[in-house]
Amino acid sequence: MKPKANIVNLPVYQPGKPVEEVKRELGLSEVIKLASNENPYGCSPKAKEAIVAELGNLSVYPDGSAADLTAAVASHLGVDKKEIIFGCGSDEVIALITRAFLLPGDETVMADQTFSVYKTNADIEGAISIEVPLVDGKHDLDAMLAAVNDKTKIVWVCNPNNPTGTIVGEEELVRFLDAVPSHVMVVLDEAYNEFVTDASYPQSMKLMDRYKNLVILRTFSKIYGLAALRIGYGVAQAEVIGLINRVREPFNTGRPAQAAAAAALRDQAFVNECRRLNAEGISYLQKEFDRLGLNYFPAHGNFILVDVRTSGKEVFQHLLYKGIIVRPGFERYPNYIRVSVGTPEQNQAFIGVLEQVLRNVKTPV
Ligand SMILES: *Cc1c(COP(=O)(O)O)cnc(C)c1O
Repeated sequence: MKPKANIVNLPVYQPGKPVEEVKRELGLSEVIKLASNENPYGCSPKAKEAIVAELGNLSVYPDGSAADLTAAVASHLGVDKKEIIFGCGSDEVIALITRAFLLPGDETVMADQTFSVYKTNADIEGAISIEVPLVDGKHDLDAMLAAVNDKTKIVWVCNPNNPTGTIVGEEELVRFLDAVPSHVMVVLDEAYNEFVTDASYPQSMKLMDRYKNLVILRTFSKIYGLAALRIGYGVAQAEVIGLINRVREPFNTGRPAQAAAAAALRDQAFVNECRRLNAEGISYLQKEFDRLGLNYFPAHGNFILVDVRTSGKEVFQHLLYKGIIVRPGFERYPNYIRVSVGTPEQNQAFIGVLEQVLRNVKTPV
């Protein structure tokens, strides 16, 4: 058997270590996972009720067009129903976009470093990823613009950026969108948008009419706390959505996921409370990092990339032995770990153990 040449050397995505695995391997009873930017408060109870109500329908195929959820999201965002597409997580929407728009040899521009899923999917299509270094952990939109040429099909802007947590403000974004040729698609990945409290953050839905080449990605996995159900979406002009829809599997999102997402959307009180608690968690962690003399990028999502000034992988391993899972191993940031914001108790436990670990890890850099 001969696989497509471009997939042979693809890296396999390295997810955060699951709690069960760490408990089993290390014989720990208590494990705190701060590695995958999950919501430590779970999800809205209304979402759980919606799933229970779906239990009688498990033998029935879902509505492939997710009509009820589409209507709910359209009215929540103030966009047309034809401007939305759902995926098995926004990860799938990324894959659908690359499948629909990238041919072998096409170019696609993204930050270095950013969410790895863009490049992986571009690689699968045989497209060429032009990776533009971040500056101070932030997208360098001028340099990204300069990287756009006749072969460029898609530019990815992850806002807030994973893993650095930095944001692009509305002014910068608009200047960029004004300059990007209209035949180049700009994908704005806003997986963490509901966490952002900074006033400069773009009101992206309002930019949709002005920029026909804009695609916005959102998800129910992060603040809505429904990562297990795998549901996210893209918003764009109806024609663009129509094209992406052609490569979508007929039943790519399940009934429980659609029902839970619609119920979760209706519970904005839960979302607001999670945003507030997350902001408190961010300030607590930043204050503690200041106390410990550790640098970090200004965090706008529900995670912080912090400089531990020694091998991030080593610090990760030591934290793991003490039952705390974080995320090391970002290529451009070998001496950093990414930590998700937990509950106040989890954040305190993390800081306590980190302080201990850093005292004992002596490897000089
Ligand atoms: C978590 C995340 C996603 C998508 O997650 P799904 O669970 O597939 O919806 C997309 N982009 C970024 C930057 C993320 O961090």
